[in-house]
Amino acid sequence: PTQPYDDDNIFARILRGEVPASKVYEDDWALAFHDVAPQAKLHILVIPKGRYVSWDDFSATASAEEITGFIRAVGHVAREHDLVEDGYRLLANVGAHGGQEVPHLHVHLFGGQPLGRMIA
Ligand code: 5GP
Repeated sequence: PTQPYDDDNIFARILRGEVPASKVYEDDWALAFHDVAPQAKLHILVIPKGRYVSWDDFSATASAEEITGFIRAVGHVAREHDLVEDGYRLLANVGAHGGQEVPHLHVHLFGGQPLGRMIA
């Protein structure tokens, strides 16, 4: 089972405004901001506002409204940055084998350059 949600994780603190972030989009369901250590020319993180550790508890327990709102926000951010024509990549790391470091669900949005086959 998914671990309990830790309210002190760094993205929870960004959501509460306790830690600054370079925000690019926000609505009722999601917040998007630049990754502090970008791995591509454009590297944005999109997170749901709810308390979800990963894709696992989000997909199992979030409401239809939360899921729709979050997924729409991801698409919106990509369109807002004009990424659709050239393309982009979405990635969500889950748990230890996924290499997840921050225990609040986040989707990585990579773009602005050809990305090759994989980004670690
Ligand atoms: P994960 O490995 O959990 O999928 O990715 C976590 C991502 O969050 C990493 O790409 C890392 O650079 C980014 N990150 C970690 N701490 C912060 C922070 O305080 N601010 C921002 N903007 N990004 C962060």
